[in-house]
Amino acid sequence: MAALVLTCGIFAFPRTARAAAGDLALHNPYASVDFASAGQYKANLHTHTTESDGAHHSQTVFDKYAELGYDFLALTDHDVYKSFDARGVTNMHGIVGIPGNEYSGAQHVGSLFNTTTRSFGSTSEEIAAGAAASGGEGRFVINHPGRNAVFVMETLSGKGLYSAEWFAELYLSNSEAFGMEVYNQQNRYPNDRIIWDRVLIETLPTRAVWAVAADDNHGAHYGYNAVIALLQEEDKTPAGLRDALDAGAFFATSFVAGLPSLGTARWDDAPAVDDIIVDAAAGTITIEARNCSNIQWITGDKQTGTRVIAEGADLTVFNYKENTDKINKYVRPLLINQTGEITCETIIQPFAVARPPKSGCNAGAANAAVPLVLFCAVFFIKTSSRH
Ligand SMILES: [Zn+2]
Ligand SMILES: [Zn+2]
Repeated sequence: MAALVLTCGIFAFPRTARAAAGDLALHNPYASVDFASAGQYKANLHTHTTESDGAHHSQTVFDKYAELGYDFLALTDHDVYKSFDARGVTNMHGIVGIPGNEYSGAQHVGSLFNTTTRSFGSTSEEIAAGAAASGGEGRFVINHPGRNAVFVMETLSGKGLYSAEWFAELYLSNSEAFGMEVYNQQNRYPNDRIIWDRVLIETLPTRAVWAVAADDNHGAHYGYNAVIALLQEEDKTPAGLRDALDAGAFFATSFVAGLPSLGTARWDDAPAVDDIIVDAAAGTITIEARNCSNIQWITGDKQTGTRVIAEGADLTVFNYKENTDKINKYVRPLLINQTGEITCETIIQPFAVARPPKSGCNAGAANAAVPLVLFCAVFFIKTSSRH
């Protein structure tokens, strides 16, 4: 039985998170995870092979990710989908393969759980149409949005095509769009996180956009990044991973600096999370973490994208009620481990913070296994013609 609540990426604040009517509500993406029994499975959702511009054959790529202990692997060649069979993969070593490709227009889009190739332009409708072409199973993530300085300026200034509003429209009108890639290779595009934080303050509280870390491996970046999915063992399947991605029940971990050479990432030293406890009455989020030399608590900022509101080596407890004046829509913990030259970071997904609507809005039960789509007239819902 899946321990996750599937919300199709659009969530409402569950009643259980409210201390009292009119009080602050917190959306905890990990609320349904049983940390005691869940496994933490490593996924790389962005990889290239000789089917596009990667250096290694698909089988070699599986061999190497198996050596590195990965549980899920998506082969996402540029603008081409090919089955694992057609690629000549004969031994997946127990890794769960995720079909996909990378639509490579002006924005690059990681298309996952999708067995079609579809060329597309750069409008949100075209991107969504490509991802949705897989019978409702497809999901997509905007890859490395900060690789182009113009995109960053457009997002922050609101002038130009890729404004924060453009991203927000894409995410708010497409429940298949679960995330944004914010770590690529080592730390190729730090601006990815600036764009992500800026976009979050547009999409929340209606829905969150989850952070993804991925290798974008072309042959020289094996095992620098991973999505760490929190799953019961029986859910180590494509559908189980998809549920975790929809719900935000995962972390994004990246070795951002200092690895001496390829394949030397020591995942045992990566910042890791043993439990996340929300006390709604006290207004606290507690992170039980290992391998952590610093913790930052971050919110979004209209001018700068990312804003750190608290920081400290022992800051494992954050009181969101006492810090409401510092919080802009959400707070997210960032775990950092610096050991010698090596720095590794783990993003815990954002906790949306809001005052629930006073009346006429039914947020639904926290354990309802149905999409919690609409509960308030103020939500931006565009009628979808794709179903
Ligand atoms: Zn790309
Ligand atoms: Zn790529």
